[in-house]
Amino acid sequence: MKQLALLILLSLAPPASCWAQAASKLAPEVHVFVKEDAPVIALTHVRMIDGTGAAPRTEQTVVVADGKIAAMGDTASTKIPVGAKVLDLAGRTVIPGLVGMHDHMFYPAPGGAPPLYPEHAASFPRLYLAGGVTTIRTTGSVEPYADLELKRAIDEGKMAGPKIHVTGPYLEGQGAFTLQMHQLKDAEDARRTVEYWIAQGVTSFKAYQNITPDELAAAVKAAHAHGIKVTGHLCSIGFREAAALGIDDLEHGLVVDTEFSPEKKPGECPGSVPARKALLRLEVTSGPIHEMIRDLVAHHVAITSTLPVFEISVPNRAPLDARVLDAMLPDERIYYLRRRSLISDGAAKSDWPALFRKELEFEREFVRQGGLLLAGLDPTGYGGVIAGFGDQREVELLVEAGFTPVEAIHIATSNGAEFLGELDKIGTVAAGKRADLVVIDGDPFGNIKDIEKVETVFKDGVGYDPAKLIESVRGFVGLR
Ligand SMILES: [Zn+2]
Repeated sequence: MKQLALLILLSLAPPASCWAQAASKLAPEVHVFVKEDAPVIALTHVRMIDGTGAAPRTEQTVVVADGKIAAMGDTASTKIPVGAKVLDLAGRTVIPGLVGMHDHMFYPAPGGAPPLYPEHAASFPRLYLAGGVTTIRTTGSVEPYADLELKRAIDEGKMAGPKIHVTGPYLEGQGAFTLQMHQLKDAEDARRTVEYWIAQGVTSFKAYQNITPDELAAAVKAAHAHGIKVTGHLCSIGFREAAALGIDDLEHGLVVDTEFSPEKKPGECPGSVPARKALLRLEVTSGPIHEMIRDLVAHHVAITSTLPVFEISVPNRAPLDARVLDAMLPDERIYYLRRRSLISDGAAKSDWPALFRKELEFEREFVRQGGLLLAGLDPTGYGGVIAGFGDQREVELLVEAGFTPVEAIHIATSNGAEFLGELDKIGTVAAGKRADLVVIDGDPFGNIKDIEKVETVFKDGVGYDPAKLIESVRGFVGLR
């Protein structure tokens, strides 16, 4: 079943000045997507969900100047500078730009073996931004040079897209399921690989399913020596062992933890089916899983929630989103719909409905015990999980897990910024921070689905038009 394993895949931020990007510095091909670029803009009469976890406030005004939030407060008492462009946004909600923490730049190609994941540097940056995602961590790269060049082009105003924290190539051991991963030979190879890619500019790493404990230990040591964090989608190493080895974050959550499998041997990735069946026999709020949660929290290991990529494995669950189908290359649309129906056909025998419920319960309990939960989409698996749209779906699914809309938005904004060490600049709406804001034509507090109604996305104070961004890459997903 390893072939079917989801290709599931951290950071010293560049100086904020790289991101201070006046609309005037944007290339013409980026400027076509800009709808608000006045030097001073006041967003008035909005409902505010500021990302801190505080209750929504109505009748708020945000003043944006020089790419930053110059002021915010009650509309009645917030002074609007002379000459500001005033936008009356009654009925709209403002939230911080989303911080996508498992937001790859690649997507599975339609077709069969060998599994390949073409880089989507044409469509994904625009779709992330259109979805309200203003910062991403790529969380494993199949084209790290392309990701680094893309980041540079966006930061220089030559391409439209989010702020990118580039993760290095996958740190995978022997037994990789795709040709696009280097297979480490030993701990020295892991150390060398980490050192090389730090020198190239990546700011995090991700360990993968077949890495050995020695290799992970060497990678963590080398990365930490540079102040760089390591996350993992692990299989050969259980969560508690990874925490002891110094890992900073674990991707996907409980569903991929193999430590409870009766077949688990040290340093080896066991079969996924017995491992999952073992999880289904255990409680989340007591016993070994609960002890594992406490251990992760004690070691300050974060968990990245990637519910959309699991939801597509649950028969008859993921909504058929017209926006997603429109974004796809026609061949990819056919392939995706066929895979959906195959999953649906297997409903009677599927463990996924129960596993998915378990995962939702696990993530809620992890936060209850004080863990830092991050949010991402993971645009892989069987397809249909697409940049931007998938990040919105992640927030909706966190609400299904039992978080309030305010908590879910806090997880998808502030928590990611905190983990990246960027909370002084982004992640919440506060005076002095970068003006990364999503204007929503609706009330996600009342109905979280409204998070899909993105009207304008501000990045560093420049307001982008989501409809134009999406239209410009219609039919690209599955190809480029
Ligand atoms: Zn991934």
